[in-house]
Amino acid sequence: MRIIMLGPPGSGKGTQGVLITERNGIPQISTGDLLRESRAKGTELGKKVAGIMDRGDLVSDEIVIDLIRERLQEPDAAAGFLLDGFPRTVVQAEALGELLADRSEKLDYVVLIDVTDDEIVGRLGSRRVCPACNAVFNIDSNPPVKDGICDECGGPLVQRDDDKPATIRSRLAVYHDQTESLVSFYKKLGLLAPVNGSIGQNAVSVEIEKMIGG
Ligand code: AMP
Repeated sequence: MRIIMLGPPGSGKGTQGVLITERNGIPQISTGDLLRESRAKGTELGKKVAGIMDRGDLVSDEIVIDLIRERLQEPDAAAGFLLDGFPRTVVQAEALGELLADRSEKLDYVVLIDVTDDEIVGRLGSRRVCPACNAVFNIDSNPPVKDGICDECGGPLVQRDDDKPATIRSRLAVYHDQTESLVSFYKKLGLLAPVNGSIGQNAVSVEIEKMIGG
């Protein structure tokens, strides 16, 4: 199965993506995670994108398309994958279409998680992440068992720099400006599977399961 998760930052794409990948035995590929890993390793690419990410802007199409092209060549992506945070522009969506056509592959679903801006601002402010294993928590709705400590690996939880209020607003503006047009792009292709993201994590998961099966 080949799936794209679409929705504003903080809509639950990552969390729901994990559940879908576990049910279907496919890897979750997040361009945000790949870029953060480059930063953590201090690579040239990591240094180049650091400022852009901290402002909440998009890194260049060229960079993320190259990252995805390479990542999809890994053996675990041969039988399917779930993309989280990619594509984010029409240029990226078109490049993905060409990449898949070259591999004689097709997308199965584009899951759209719909959440209002006000709810996102509240949610992201209380999001905490584990830089070691990428686990995600929310100090209000999904707190870790031990304050500030990752349930999965025991590492310290942090607030992402781009989850601070001013950056959240600019990331939402970028979403409306550049990414939301992908909703009609994929609707026209008959791939869109929309779900109301405000009904709670479990209910969202059930709705997605109904739409895409597995
Ligand atoms: P995310 O974890 O998906 O919210 O991504 C964090 C940041 O990484 C974004 O705010 C962008 O700066 C950058 N980023 C991630 N994916 C993309 C993409 N597909 N295109 C451009 N920039 C991206």
